[in-house]
Amino acid sequence: MPDHGDPPRPRKDRLIQTRVERDLEATLKQEAQRRRLTVSHLIRSVLEDTFHLVDGVVADVDEIVGGSARLARNVRRNARRIASPARDRPEPGERAAPPGSEFPHVRGWNELVLNRPTSCSGCGAGLARGERGFLGVCDDPGAPRDTLCPACVESL
Ligand SMILES: [Zn+2]
Repeated sequence: MPDHGDPPRPRKDRLIQTRVERDLEATLKQEAQRRRLTVSHLIRSVLEDTFHLVDGVVADVDEIVGGSARLARNVRRNARRIASPARDRPEPGERAAPPGSEFPHVRGWNELVLNRPTSCSGCGAGLARGERGFLGVCDDPGAPRDTLCPACVESL
């Protein structure tokens, strides 16, 4: 006889389990606590950031992750970034005009995880390897390459 009790609530989310080294677990717990998140929330957002990046690839394929091996490296780098204690990062902002007006040649801003350190073309904030940045995609291949920090893109 089938059980006619309460049907289990269907869940959209899927559960994925993985084994991690003890120190990575400790790091994740620490960081999650620092950000007032659950560990699974933290991991989810790191994964979402990483895969969002791959989905968003439209240009500069050589500068962005391509294969799954590189993706794995990227995830590792993200984990290391989370593991590293808060670095002094210059506060973005303090500029006269909105950043969009300074970049008439840019058609759009494509999110990426930086492979090389650079600085924000909008506010000058330093962007480290492994951090998220937004690359200006231009129609003119000879146009200057600009990268914006997340804060500058948000203020567009
Ligand atoms: Zn900026």
